[in-house]
Amino acid sequence: MDFSTICIHGSDKKYDSTGAISVPIFQSATFAHPAVGESTGFDYSRAQNPTREYLEETVARLEDGVAALAFSSGMAAVTTLMELFSPGDHIIASDDLYGGSIRLFHHISEKNGLSFDYVDTSDLDALKGLIKAQTKAVFIETPTNPMMHVTDIEAVAGLCRQHGLLLIVDNTFLTPYFQKPLLLGADVVLHSGTKYLGGHNDTLAGFLVVSDANLAEKLQFISKTIGACLSPFDSWLLIRGIKTLPLRLERQQETAIRITNWLKQQAQVEAVYYPGLPEHPGYEISRKQASGFGAMLSFKVDSAETARKILERVRIIQYAESLGGVESLITYPMLQTHADIPEEERTAKGIDDRLLRLSVGLESANDLIKDLSQALGGGN
Ligand SMILES: *Cc1c(COP(=O)(O)O)cnc(C)c1O
Repeated sequence: MDFSTICIHGSDKKYDSTGAISVPIFQSATFAHPAVGESTGFDYSRAQNPTREYLEETVARLEDGVAALAFSSGMAAVTTLMELFSPGDHIIASDDLYGGSIRLFHHISEKNGLSFDYVDTSDLDALKGLIKAQTKAVFIETPTNPMMHVTDIEAVAGLCRQHGLLLIVDNTFLTPYFQKPLLLGADVVLHSGTKYLGGHNDTLAGFLVVSDANLAEKLQFISKTIGACLSPFDSWLLIRGIKTLPLRLERQQETAIRITNWLKQQAQVEAVYYPGLPEHPGYEISRKQASGFGAMLSFKVDSAETARKILERVRIIQYAESLGGVESLITYPMLQTHADIPEEERTAKGIDDRLLRLSVGLESANDLIKDLSQALGGGN
């Protein structure tokens, strides 16, 4: 089945006999047993719920995994994943990882006895140099947020295999429509389903997708024990969002490319970070491992005043955290997603008071460019 057909038809499972075209929302916490010692396959919604099961099968198929698990947020998925590890274990992570993941590692995982090293994972030798006896996993994001660094997933997967390490890839930015890390050798794919999979800025969700049945079973056990699962209604919103994933991403990417080219011509814009630009250092790797470049871009303006002016003047584009939805959002990473990272560390990565991040939505490209133009002071 092709990707877009899976987006529409998800799983083959039918849970009712009415012929309902839309998967029912099984808003039930618990399920009755037909007889002593028997089960319909569903006992209690923390362990599994039909609406969630349908969604999980859909996402597993989209990522070419053996199983997927749906969580109440992306961070709930990362938290559950961290329970695979034990005190003393060491994890190597991208130094440009989503700020919330780094906050979790710093404030919670470290307290629980895990240790972390951060490195530019596009530098394989630097990554290799950090592997020690206690290392259990490598956690990468590609492209990264907000600097758009690209890591060669296949190369890192090779290194991980050699050393017996689990490779975790946060695939939120590109989604399986553009990139399938499990096919490139990753063991676990992570998603903030809040972003492109949901796609409408209306619900939080998270996913873990795995390529190994034993690992799936371990995570299912941890998940039902912790209980950070996705509700039936939110599962249904995700099922609905995924139906239009390919269409949304194609259009959003097309608009992102137009905006990128426009931004490059603006005197007040000093740099544009987008992996689809041939001059971007990750361009060739992106072309090798992904079928698209996505619809996220960052840009650096000439001064903090210009950055502030854009944030305050945009009308169609909204100044808000998050990404991947039909509404275009502009973010000030320094004050929002990356506020918890010490200033010196943040600035060294390029995340300063002149950097803005844009999540391109589904409005017309012309209107978005006009909006940015008037915000930059160029009039309409
Ligand atoms: C948003 C995000 C997360 C966290 O997901 P939530 O759904 O907000 O909990 C993790 N990784 C990336 C890349 C994200 O953008």
